[in-house]
Amino acid sequence: MIPLEEARAHVLAHCPALASRAVALAEAVGCVSAAPVIAGLAVPAFRNAAVDGFAVRAADVATAAEANPARLRVVATVAAGATFTGSLGAGETVRIMTGAPVPDGADAVVMVERSRSSGPDHVELTARAAPHDGVRDAGDDIRAGDTVVPAGTVLTAAHLGVLASIGRADVDVVPRPVVGVLSTGDELVAPGQFLRPGQIHDSNRAVLAALLASTGCTVVDLGLIRDDEEAVATALTEGAARCDALVSSGGVSMGDFDVIKLVLDKVADMRWMQIAMRPAKPFAFGVLTSPSRAVPVFGLPGNPVSSLVSFELLARPGLRRMAGHERLDRPRVRAVLEAALPRRVDGKLHLPRVSVRFDGTAFRAAPVSAQGSHQMAATAGANALALLPDGDGLLAGEEVEVLLLDADSALGGS
Ligand code: AMP
Ligand code: MG
Repeated sequence: MIPLEEARAHVLAHCPALASRAVALAEAVGCVSAAPVIAGLAVPAFRNAAVDGFAVRAADVATAAEANPARLRVVATVAAGATFTGSLGAGETVRIMTGAPVPDGADAVVMVERSRSSGPDHVELTARAAPHDGVRDAGDDIRAGDTVVPAGTVLTAAHLGVLASIGRADVDVVPRPVVGVLSTGDELVAPGQFLRPGQIHDSNRAVLAALLASTGCTVVDLGLIRDDEEAVATALTEGAARCDALVSSGGVSMGDFDVIKLVLDKVADMRWMQIAMRPAKPFAFGVLTSPSRAVPVFGLPGNPVSSLVSFELLARPGLRRMAGHERLDRPRVRAVLEAALPRRVDGKLHLPRVSVRFDGTAFRAAPVSAQGSHQMAATAGANALALLPDGDGLLAGEEVEVLLLDADSALGGS
């Protein structure tokens, strides 16, 4: 058995970041920027109205009030997207919409709520304005030459807004890894199909595809593959031709008839591991070198809970590294146990599934009822893995470190 850290380091050493390329903004959220982005233009590009109202010379409304309105002549109306080419004279105003350029000669905008009409061409303004009131200056968000997105930024929705505002339709990023997922095992049938005696539904592929998508990968479903040498070899080599990485489940433990072992050893440079942890002890990792690229292959165990835990602890960090991330792991916090986590000394790190919530002061962790590596229903009620070190367990009220698989739910977000 090897420690989890050693297996993780081996994986990471073989999962370099993908080559960067330009992707459309619509595909870039969550990706890591590969180069600094420098604004080629200012935002706003021109001085404009912050409110709907009337562009004025502030001096004309310096003493305006409800009881003492300033009566001005309306010389034009400018909608957003339009421009007023003239220059505002004394006693004049332009009706203006939010975002429209403030005309030359004007230095303030009085909001429409502080106006009342006064004949066809005139308006009364009932509030005073100082110069610059209601005006947004050119460049007060972004100046030309500003670095708006440094290299290595995980792009959020707001970053996409910044990029779009400076006119960028695409951005250089480390692209999303394209990852093929397959299930292996003769006992498996797809959900929706009838079970014959001895058969079970393939549940891992649904789990792994969802985990891959939430890791930011583009998922390629390589299907459910029979325990047949040729079928497995074809699935792997064809998958490697069009994917950046492959994730399989099943066939990596000690059982017989696990054809994927034979095949992986032929097509890839594999390392078969027994990791000192429970669940998810068996794990295989290797690199399949196809004509065009070196494709990391994650061989996850078949037991559903093991497969999920193995993905979280080993595949996810590797895939995040391929996607250019610095932060590879889920957040860890210390939590107070609501019930005991008993265990025996066995040289392994145990990862019981727990339900964690923040009570306003501390994180509290309640172990889920069933901890077998096939008991997915109980796991579905958990949002974290406790990191229970070798020993004889922990008592209720003691602290344990937990890995938050869903930090939002642990923090009480809805
Ligand atoms: P294996 O790793 O192939 O020895 O499988 C270990 C256990 O996981 C067995 O009970 C398998 O039937 C089960 N298993 C393997 N693959 C899947 C899958 N895709 N979905 C659900 N259970 C699976
Ligand atoms: Mg099997």
